[in-house]
Amino acid sequence: MPDEIRVTRSICCYCGTGCGVRVRSKGEQVISVEGDPDHPSNMGRLCSKGSALAETVRRDTSRVLRARVRDRVTGAYRELALSDAFDLAAETIVDTVREHGPDAMGFYLSGQLLTEDYAIFNKMARALIGTNNIDTNSRLCMSSAVAGYKMTLGADAPPASYEDIELADTVLIAGSNMAYAHPVLFQRLMRARQARPHMKIIVIDPRNTDTAQAADLHLAVTPGGDVALFHAMLNVMVWEGLLDQDYIAQSTDGFAALKERIREFTPAAAQDVCGIAADDIVTAARWFAQSPATLSLYTMGLNQSSSGTAKNMALIHLHLATGQLGRPGSGPFSLTGQPNAMGGREAGAMATLLPGHRDPASAVHRNEVAALWGVDCLPDAPGVPAIAMFDALLDKRIRVLWIAATNPAQSLPDQNRVRKALQQADFVIVQEAFADAETLAFADLILPAATWPEKSGTMTNSERRISRVRAAVPAPGEALSDWKIVQQVARRVAQKWAPHKAALFEYQAEADIFAEHARLTAGRDLDYSTLDYPLLEKTGPVQWPYRNEGTVRLYSEGRFPTGNGRAHFIDVGFNAPAETISAHFPLRLTTGRLRDHWHTMTRTGLSATLIRHVEEPAIYLHPSDMARYRLADQALTRVKSRRGQIVLPVQADDSLTPGCAFLPMHWGSRAMGGGGINVLTHGATDPYSFQPELKHCVIAVNAF
Ligand code: SF4
Repeated sequence: MPDEIRVTRSICCYCGTGCGVRVRSKGEQVISVEGDPDHPSNMGRLCSKGSALAETVRRDTSRVLRARVRDRVTGAYRELALSDAFDLAAETIVDTVREHGPDAMGFYLSGQLLTEDYAIFNKMARALIGTNNIDTNSRLCMSSAVAGYKMTLGADAPPASYEDIELADTVLIAGSNMAYAHPVLFQRLMRARQARPHMKIIVIDPRNTDTAQAADLHLAVTPGGDVALFHAMLNVMVWEGLLDQDYIAQSTDGFAALKERIREFTPAAAQDVCGIAADDIVTAARWFAQSPATLSLYTMGLNQSSSGTAKNMALIHLHLATGQLGRPGSGPFSLTGQPNAMGGREAGAMATLLPGHRDPASAVHRNEVAALWGVDCLPDAPGVPAIAMFDALLDKRIRVLWIAATNPAQSLPDQNRVRKALQQADFVIVQEAFADAETLAFADLILPAATWPEKSGTMTNSERRISRVRAAVPAPGEALSDWKIVQQVARRVAQKWAPHKAALFEYQAEADIFAEHARLTAGRDLDYSTLDYPLLEKTGPVQWPYRNEGTVRLYSEGRFPTGNGRAHFIDVGFNAPAETISAHFPLRLTTGRLRDHWHTMTRTGLSATLIRHVEEPAIYLHPSDMARYRLADQALTRVKSRRGQIVLPVQADDSLTPGCAFLPMHWGSRAMGGGGINVLTHGATDPYSFQPELKHCVIAVNAF
């Protein structure tokens, strides 16, 4: 009997908007992908990437179909049976841990993984092997937002919801080209403004992006100048009596010290640092403070910085100082880059987190998780976050690295250092779905992973909404769901290393992992301990915390999950970016997304429709800079930083301020040789979030 057409409800696998989709499939083939009109986060709408998802589902050689092992002498790969691959992974891990200790093992995961994948990886690292060396590419994405929320509001919890977009009177967009990076939310904002013509939109961005062009006030901030801008806005609010004194007195602490700090940040003084005219700073401050409801939407422009946490905190201060928080249409609202970075934070699969938003530095928290997992204790040695993991590989503190669903040999900054670290590792396991991922070239063992729409589980989007992800077609070749691969290796490691822990991984299905994970949230700020798959099937997607029903908005009572119930103003100063322009490197380089590509293009590169938007990489310069460096449009140009160089065409772009260059983040060494654009970027990180400064380095250009 011929296969029937099936419709499977799931979630788009790209950005943190978390749009619901309906996947029409027949047998092994996906026929089409449409927006799910019943999903509350997108109500049927999709952007160009979501609409082209069907083109990216492949069963051919663009996929990793079988396990492969590399001969260390010849460098040649050969296929091996899956069970042999799992044995080899387990033997390597156990031998390494026996000889060098648990911290010789590291896990580098991905915001693309499902919550269930994170949960089992985390349990394997911490409860079985005994290391906190587990981190994800969310370190490149939202970790400054996490640190900013925790230090000011007490918990890693975005307080607002998408429906606040329709309720806001002023919307401040900082460091986000929403029109490209979160298109469905941007279109929602444009519709909201049509319905509320009085709405004012302020966009803070060094470039005059499509998002900035929709602004009533575009503040073309000098890259790295955001803290000076936010402090100057607060200065205006203090000077003009625009503060909500009652809110500050009743719901916050620490304002007096910050008020002293920002005294010197007058608009006139700040304009030299942040590049914004004093009058515009005053206008932005007034619009922000005097609006009945102000919502801030922000992402990588604040986060990917060596002062990313300070930028987040300085923006949150504006909301606390004006009481623009906990009310409809107001609040600071970070837009998550990856589809399930939130789920990874909830599962605690990061060096600086434990499940349920707990802290690995806290003995109480470690003991709580150990008890719930059924082990005696968890490791107390601090884990190594993502960028430092590659330093640890270089100096042999970490010897074996297990990479899953991410492409560090293209996406991490300072590629020459990253690639050297991968080459020098004792053993690299790469669990991957796409054969084009550049990191595969550094793998000793390749494990074939299933990907969207072949996997089931859950994801949490930017507005704290948990949705079911459902498999629509079987995985090709021998590819398996990520959690099943981990389960197979973990069982083998347990048999050799700690037989009494083998029972830790006796899950029958994703639902069992989710149920255990949900129990770990009990009593925590995100509490969804009563949720399970049957309930999620009944309720549909819900927002945490979930207690009989979801929670749309946090902190409406003016109480915060801090020790004293008050939000904190933090006395934070301004720090310049890690690199400053000089005679040898006279241009600032910033990086970002294009509309139709995603990350390192392993998936979007499979869609002819998406490729057509921009087919080749280019460096974008202001026409005046092109004239200064005698570069003709489309001329091949050498771009140099202190770490390396690449060659690619130059393109005129008057959306840039003179002195500032832009490179799309998507292309690697195959397009331009030598490690791609991240040969140029540097690995300086924020002191609180450990997030790298991918948005700023200094460069020189000349004709090739
Ligand atoms: Fe997918 Fe994000 Fe586009 Fe929605 S906005 S369809 S989640 S890429």
